[in-house]
Amino acid sequence: MYDIVAIPAFEDNYIWALHNDQHAFVVDPGDAAPVLAWLARNNISLSGMLCTHRHHDHVGGIEELRAVYNVPVYGRQHKKNPHITHDLREGDKLSLEEFGLNFDIMEVPGHIEDHIAYYSSGSGILFCGDVLFGAGCGRNFEGSVKELHHSLQRFASLPPSTLAYCAHEYTASNLRFAKVCDPMNPDVDHRIERTAQMRAVNQSTVPFTIEIELATNPFLRCKEPAILHSLRQAGYDAIDEESAFIALREWRDKF
Ligand SMILES: [Zn+2]
Repeated sequence: MYDIVAIPAFEDNYIWALHNDQHAFVVDPGDAAPVLAWLARNNISLSGMLCTHRHHDHVGGIEELRAVYNVPVYGRQHKKNPHITHDLREGDKLSLEEFGLNFDIMEVPGHIEDHIAYYSSGSGILFCGDVLFGAGCGRNFEGSVKELHHSLQRFASLPPSTLAYCAHEYTASNLRFAKVCDPMNPDVDHRIERTAQMRAVNQSTVPFTIEIELATNPFLRCKEPAILHSLRQAGYDAIDEESAFIALREWRDKF
């Protein structure tokens, strides 16, 4: 048995801790201090780290954590990310036996080129890093926006009940954009209301289901006539799903 809890870090990062009452794996430990404090408070020892990508707010705490716990660090090896001890590629499997969890590794470029995600079909869990956010998606720093679209399409085709654990609390601000480009969508209205209630009591809006993303996330809804209409009204040339996605990402960057 296991539980998954958020360890808040920086302004709006979540470091996810997969744990039982003795051991934990942490996902994207950008900062060591909150992880060490959480482990000490709960009398739990660290068994390993999972990384989705090499941005500093996801890997910045690894070195300090490894000075205390000499544990495996899983992720995609890259010259700019020297901390990975176990390289993972598309189709690889990662088994966390003590939790009965098996992950399939997905390469999901488009935020940065070597971003990976951890998907457990048996448990319906996805650690998606900075590719998919609540009602939004990551910025395109490396690779193409088309690759980002393709990566999100892969997430969109997972079972709707899949719980996505992303690394930032961005849902409320993403919904403000969703409301502008998908103004008549009642599911967006409902999610705005629910998100405001949750944030008012400092509750995390993550994880969320793929189902709610399909209903409210404009980046997974580029084919919808309402969104195509909004794009054209905003002056973008959106003739098909892919061009709509590219236009949406550009619009969101300026929003
Ligand atoms: Zn990032």
